[in-house]
Amino acid sequence: MDKLQFYNTLTRKKEEFTPVNPPLVTMYSCGPTVYNYAHIGNLRTYVFMDELRRTLKFAGYKTKSVMNITDVGHLTSDGDDGEDKMQTAAKKQNKSPEQIAAFYSEVFFKDLERLNILKPEIIAKATDNIDEMIDFVKTLCEKGYGYETDDGIYFDISKFDEYGKLSRCNIEDALAGARVAVNTQKRHPADFALWKKAEKNHIMQWQSPWGMGYPGWHIECSTMSKKFLGERFDIHTGGVDHIPIHHENEIAQSEAYEGHKVVNTWMHGEFMLVDGGKMSKSLGNVYTVDDLIARGYSPLAFRYFCLNTHYRNKLNFTFDGLSGAATAYNRLCGLISACKTAPHADNNTAQKVAEQKAAVIAAVYDDLNYPLALGELWTMAKLPACREIYDAAEVLNAVLGLDLHVPHVSAAPTVEAPDEVKQIAEQRFAARQNKDWATSDELRNKLDALGYAVLDSKTGYELKKK
Ligand code: AMP
Ligand code: ZN
Repeated sequence: MDKLQFYNTLTRKKEEFTPVNPPLVTMYSCGPTVYNYAHIGNLRTYVFMDELRRTLKFAGYKTKSVMNITDVGHLTSDGDDGEDKMQTAAKKQNKSPEQIAAFYSEVFFKDLERLNILKPEIIAKATDNIDEMIDFVKTLCEKGYGYETDDGIYFDISKFDEYGKLSRCNIEDALAGARVAVNTQKRHPADFALWKKAEKNHIMQWQSPWGMGYPGWHIECSTMSKKFLGERFDIHTGGVDHIPIHHENEIAQSEAYEGHKVVNTWMHGEFMLVDGGKMSKSLGNVYTVDDLIARGYSPLAFRYFCLNTHYRNKLNFTFDGLSGAATAYNRLCGLISACKTAPHADNNTAQKVAEQKAAVIAAVYDDLNYPLALGELWTMAKLPACREIYDAAEVLNAVLGLDLHVPHVSAAPTVEAPDEVKQIAEQRFAARQNKDWATSDELRNKLDALGYAVLDSKTGYELKKK
């Protein structure tokens, strides 16, 4: 196994990664709440999860990843207020929560596939694990961490000394930050629900030692990670919004249950913004993969766009930005796929290709530095066309998931031309991007001699047979 470095939110440090049981890596990723279409921000978080899983596999590890599907318990706030998101959607669409969950889960997995996001080995639905959640809550109560009120079972955060260690806020901060208690029976305003007692008209409810009810949102992740990965596992992922509430609560539940640390490395993907601000329905800027396709962008161009920003940095989505990424992505595919039929490299070029390939791998091994990896890949793609570039890209595809070597994704050239001509045209385009006008002119002359004219535009070029 190769050496990897990951940034751990818990320690706020980049650390050398050492799994509990190599070569196995056990990993849990908070999955979607399936009450609506996943938007491109959600999907950015799953592209990050995929970068991580692909990198682990590429480095020689065997992954056992779990992703949950939240189909109950996530209320309209991330805390304990509001209605269950599944129930709200079901009422609105006049369907059952199961129908809503089935529909949006299917679309979600289709989106993952379109973005070349490898499906985690285990997909766990919350509603398939209710008995296990009830047992988990029972044990927390027996251990003195849970207490009952008229409307549910709550976790007493004052009993868990390390509450707040992930977000580095202490209990006083948590108390100050909590909303004024609606439920006056809670011992502390920041105590959170493990189980909610259901009102009669609540659509989803199960029998429990506390009467009919349904689980809190956080308990599903503690329960299902324990069930599938055991009492200690290697990595837990999610978006940064989960750090202060959802993951803090997960840590409290899991560590209170086990009596020891459960997750070694916590990794969080930063948010995607749209036009510099929050995505919101009222602004009309919540986009899905289908919206991008409808505007003529390929899902993989969006993946390239995501990879081009480090997962720990905010990514501002604009259509201009996506267009730029799409153009670059198409060029890159054009350059690389044209190398399929290129001759073998001389020793010097072959050596350079090998160095660039190693640089791409080193970049992703260093806390998933995909932007740097793409830069190194570009340097490789601009070397004199040779079969070695194509072969290297084919290997690197396992870690990039960009289908770079597949010719059909290239948008240029626009005319049917022999591979030799296409290669020269792509090399010339790359030279122009580098402002290497001498090479560009030289290659234009070559094209001319082969009977092709090239017309340049701002974003690309067109080939014409003379
Ligand atoms: P949800 O379906 O709301 O539970 O969210 C699914 C995932 O998307 C979670 O891991 C969130 O952290 C993440 N997420 C939500 N909004 C964004 C955003 N704007 N950018 C990146 N990730 C997001
Ligand atoms: Zn979770």
